[in-house]
Amino acid sequence: MPQQAAGGGLSCSKCGALASAGGRFCSQCGSALTPAQCLGCNTTLAQGTSFCPNCGKAR
Ligand SMILES: [Zn+2]
Ligand SMILES: [Zn+2]
Repeated sequence: MPQQAAGGGLSCSKCGALASAGGRFCSQCGSALTPAQCLGCNTTLAQGTSFCPNCGKAR
């Protein structure tokens, strides 16, 4: 079974590399690790999202 990062560790959704705590981009492929937040309503936006599903604001 695949191992999931536990606790505060983030793993890259693109290449699966474990990222160091506090890192915002994958050191292996450069993909963003942390989801963006909507500037309008603070909703967490999934990676690849172009518009906020809550308020419609473009990210
Ligand atoms: Zn990666
Ligand atoms: Zn929003």
